[in-house]
Amino acid sequence: MKNSFGFNFDNTYVNLPELLYTEIAPLKVISPKLVMFNHQLASELGLRLNESADVIAKMFSGNVLPLGAQPLSQAYAGHQFGNFAILGDGRAHLLGEHVKADGTRLDIQLKGSGLSPYSRRGDGRAALGPMLREYLISEAMNALNIPTTRSLAVVTTGENVYRTTLLPGAILTRIASSHLRVGTFEFAAFRQDRSLIQSLLEYSINRHYPDLIDVANPALAFFEAVMIRQIDLIVNWMRVGFIHGVMNTDNMTISGETIDYGPCAFIDDYHPKKVFSSIDDSGRYAFGNQPAIAQWNLVRLAESLLPLIESDRDKSIELATDSLNKFSSYYHNQWHTMMKQKLGLYGDHQDDDKLIEHLLTWMSTNKADYTNTFLELMESLNPDSLGINGFTQLSQDNEFMTWFVEWKKRVALNSITIEQTIEWMKQSNPVIIPRNHQVEIALEAAYLGNMTPFERLLESLREPYQQSDKIVPYQMPPEGNDQSYRTYC
Ligand code: AMP
Ligand code: MG
Ligand code: MG
Repeated sequence: MKNSFGFNFDNTYVNLPELLYTEIAPLKVISPKLVMFNHQLASELGLRLNESADVIAKMFSGNVLPLGAQPLSQAYAGHQFGNFAILGDGRAHLLGEHVKADGTRLDIQLKGSGLSPYSRRGDGRAALGPMLREYLISEAMNALNIPTTRSLAVVTTGENVYRTTLLPGAILTRIASSHLRVGTFEFAAFRQDRSLIQSLLEYSINRHYPDLIDVANPALAFFEAVMIRQIDLIVNWMRVGFIHGVMNTDNMTISGETIDYGPCAFIDDYHPKKVFSSIDDSGRYAFGNQPAIAQWNLVRLAESLLPLIESDRDKSIELATDSLNKFSSYYHNQWHTMMKQKLGLYGDHQDDDKLIEHLLTWMSTNKADYTNTFLELMESLNPDSLGINGFTQLSQDNEFMTWFVEWKKRVALNSITIEQTIEWMKQSNPVIIPRNHQVEIALEAAYLGNMTPFERLLESLREPYQQSDKIVPYQMPPEGNDQSYRTYC
């Protein structure tokens, strides 16, 4: 008898025009084995998984489908490093939409689950390392209170995948508020089918922006709403030092969640030009370039929506351009507000912007650790502090000390107490991030069959705004520097 495992599927994507997806089942694997399972997320979803690990592995590999699943691969397009391409889920299957008890609708997707009509030259599969990496970083992002897809399970397949070498294959179960992307709209626009774009727009508004159902110009309002969510997301990335690494338009969601953790990485020492991705030679997706790329991607979304904004194309372009022109001021506002909180600059004072700029310039020339510099500044305000266990002291160099004195004077002008200032700063300054060298140690051990370092690292990232003794080893920057660190898709 078919088991629902507590999934409460109500699948609406299949009601969209058939051009947008292909109904296809995951390709069965030889020997599924559960390596990671997110019990907390499963219980948040209301799943009932009392079965053996064996049965659960069969379900999260796609070998056995839960009752109500209607698997499909989605069609989409995208600009990859600036070049347009028709894409689609080449190695992923949407099992369906699970509706939680509170009415929240979530996509349940398997990634690494076999070929689809969109696989192009790919093998439809994924290796264990990248799937564990996505699991770890997405869960860390969620703990940091940053909108993101979640990870429910990782299963090894018992099959090898060939990358540059043979690696164990794996499947990730990804949970997302949807998988609608900028690229989904580009796909519809490429077909030059106005009613297709219209269906997609109505679907997206219903699902993510129900407040816009009755507005005068839904396409334009939708565009601006997506823009605001994307800006808020990028500001969060900049806050914690996250580099997405492959901000192609197919990897930018309509919901405003971070998606597709391929070559992403967190910065240790700060530099706006920082790049870790092995395929990003030109630095297109460098840390400091992320807001500009988000804007570039939003231009692609606006272009796709043009036929729906106004019937007159010129008028449409004019309206879309007006909306796009709001990007810069909104971004800069949000970014400054965020940086001021990181530095404890409460209220508005004339030279706040300069204070922020000076620190960042100093940090980039002196290779200061991004996360720990803010922590140490915060700690320096605490009269009872003994310093942060094991950290190097704040720099004593002249330039820094001059800045430090100015900063202290400015913080003294806050209309809130020092205790309140510290509490306020704590909310935006994580004490811990998944540092690249720690992630590598965890993944290397996982490939050798030892999941303990991975589980410990994951555990250390559960409460990233809370100092504790357990996390101290994970707060250390890498020894020497990690300039040679490379990430792969
Ligand atoms: P990504 O860089 O992960 O966002 O993937 C870009 C596109 O390549 C998407 O359409 C993926 O589905 C597809 N893709 C990535 N890896 C594979 C693979 N191993 N097999 C088939 N398609 C893939
Ligand atoms: Mg992708
Ligand atoms: Mg990927």
